[in-house]
Amino acid sequence: MAGKGEFIMENETMIEVNKLQKDFGGNAVLKDITEDVKKGEVICVIGPSGAGKSTFLRCLNLLEQPTGGQVMFKGTDLTTLDEKHVNELREKMGMVFQSFNLFPNMTVIENLKLAPVKVKHLSDDEATKVAKDLLDKVGLAEKADAYPTSLSGGQQQRVAIARALAMNPEVMLFDEPTSALDPEMVGEVLKVMQDLANDGMTMVVVTHEMGFAKSVADKIWFMADGYIQESAQPDEFFNNPKTDRAKDFLEKVL
Ligand code: ADP
Ligand code: MG
Repeated sequence: MAGKGEFIMENETMIEVNKLQKDFGGNAVLKDITEDVKKGEVICVIGPSGAGKSTFLRCLNLLEQPTGGQVMFKGTDLTTLDEKHVNELREKMGMVFQSFNLFPNMTVIENLKLAPVKVKHLSDDEATKVAKDLLDKVGLAEKADAYPTSLSGGQQQRVAIARALAMNPEVMLFDEPTSALDPEMVGEVLKVMQDLANDGMTMVVVTHEMGFAKSVADKIWFMADGYIQESAQPDEFFNNPKTDRAKDFLEKVL
């Protein structure tokens, strides 16, 4: 019976996207997207450049205002909220970009403490503890007092992930987090993301790392031409893509 309770919890919907559309001055980038993300799920969004992947991710936390449709986060339609309430919900969705965007004039630990102190009003001691735990988790405890520019790209991206986690988000959104890294640093960042997935974090990851998508994703969303053309488990998607668009894409990247 305990198993049944867990099963229900695992199926709780975190994000629900309904008929999402986004135009930029008449250019229809997202045409009609309806999907959902369950608690604890790892979704990898893949597809060609210009498909609308970044726009889609940015619509999930309303960094972009959708032109049509709904984005529900735990049952609340974000598109109907005022800025203050959007900000409150946005705190529950951590985001990590291709460019790490760390504050260069602050040490690593100051980067991690800033939002928890300013936005969540944690005490300095509390924020320090959270930050140290997270730096430990991403393998950078000894870099707490370093400045971002003294770190490698892989280390900076791990700090950026830790900084997003410092707000204790319920969902993590990643937009090509390893695309700007030298090849030898990709693995250390993917490892941190894999650990996070193993811990049960709900994640939506735009990535070109097909190995990661195959081994870590619960589901692949293949996006092209403003639609999610295929939504399938990795085995199914990679071994038996249904659309010509996906077959063509996989031929090029695999
Ligand atoms: P992807 O991340 O899949 O490469 P994007 O979401 O970045 O795709 O872009 C999809 C399309 O939307 C592109 O044609 C891009 O030029 C357009 N686009 C993205 N952001 C903007 C913007 N702020 N203003 C105008 N057009 C945009
Ligand atoms: Mg993009």
